[in-house]
Amino acid sequence: MKKILLPGNTLGVMGSGQLGRMFSQSAIRHGYKVHVYSPDTATPSGKAGASESVGSYENTKKLRKFLNEIDGLTFEFENIPEIALSTIEDFAKKNSIPISPSPHAIRIAQERSVEKTFFRKIGLKTAEFFLIRSLKDFEANKGWIQYPCIVKENKFGYDGKGQYRIKRESDLIRLLKSKKKIDFIIEEIIPFEKEISVIGARFLNGSTAMFKPSENIHTNHILDFSIYPARIEKEIITKAMKSTEILMDGLNYVGVLGFEFFIKKGELICNEFAPRPHNSGHFSMDAANLSQFDLQLRTLCNIPIDKSLESVPCIMKNIMGEHFLKDMNSSAKRLADPDFRLHLYQKDIPKKGRKMGHWNYIVKENSGNLPEAFEN
Ligand code: ATP
Ligand code: MG
Repeated sequence: MKKILLPGNTLGVMGSGQLGRMFSQSAIRHGYKVHVYSPDTATPSGKAGASESVGSYENTKKLRKFLNEIDGLTFEFENIPEIALSTIEDFAKKNSIPISPSPHAIRIAQERSVEKTFFRKIGLKTAEFFLIRSLKDFEANKGWIQYPCIVKENKFGYDGKGQYRIKRESDLIRLLKSKKKIDFIIEEIIPFEKEISVIGARFLNGSTAMFKPSENIHTNHILDFSIYPARIEKEIITKAMKSTEILMDGLNYVGVLGFEFFIKKGELICNEFAPRPHNSGHFSMDAANLSQFDLQLRTLCNIPIDKSLESVPCIMKNIMGEHFLKDMNSSAKRLADPDFRLHLYQKDIPKKGRKMGHWNYIVKENSGNLPEAFEN
């Protein structure tokens, strides 16, 4: 039985952005100290009270020093280099500090081809895809590829970055030839009716906790709204939650994850998982009996929960950099309504495509419509 980390312990986080911030807010409220590691200073996490260790993810000397100062480690993002992951893994083995999730799960999430192959291995359905690492791979597979298709960088993708919609073979060849390094998956386009995601948590003793699916609406490839619970049939809710359980058990996962799905003609297709709290789970900060960050804390500290997760309906809306000033200028009306809750991440420059914060709107009557107040 691994030890329990009680309040007073120092919890480390790889990364210092908004997810680290919201984890820090939860952990600090519970009496833990938080220490984040990233290349940046004056970060969203630091501004929420975490101490900051500044170093590149490749700087193993600084990373080891940081690891020596913490009692347990979690992650706010998965795209950290292998050298950092193996340093963490070695350190944890020698010093037996808890790490959640495991570097094993993070490695799977980092690489789309590995992730989708893993989904299939455990019996979950994915879109058709081909791994292309050279023009030769393309030649060998070209007879199977259907157009239009989506090309995604195999590693380290987020917010739709490194993705291309391709209409015809000649465009694909041009794209591949324009790249210094070819490491892509070519994916079938799913004409989905809805996108949903499930936030799940699994503890060291193998017990799990989950929210129902949220319904996700993207604008410019970035999550815009997330509606909890998703307005979908009961069978799909059950299936998505069962799939999340299968994934967490299959990974022998400890921690919180967000699992994204497409729904096409009543069928559930697995897209990807994030080995950490997920943007679509932010509703839980105001609408649920425990937030996804409170769960991240409990999974890391080996404190399994003994009740089910519950949440009232909620609509989350991201505040993007390009809308930040306008949104803030009209915020008084929403702030006057106690059913609107504002979370800002204290980022200095409201750049286009940058997530500056989010609103949660507690829905008293689930009319199924977005609240008028969100319409500008
Ligand atoms: P994020 O960080 O937002 O989760 P990502 O860069 O990891 O994004 P995906 O989640 O795979 O990449 O894709 C981003 C979005 O692009 C999806 O949420 C979906 O709207 C669309 N998309 C991705 N793959 C497909 C597909 N095969 N068919 C149709 N749409 C897709
Ligand atoms: Mg995604």
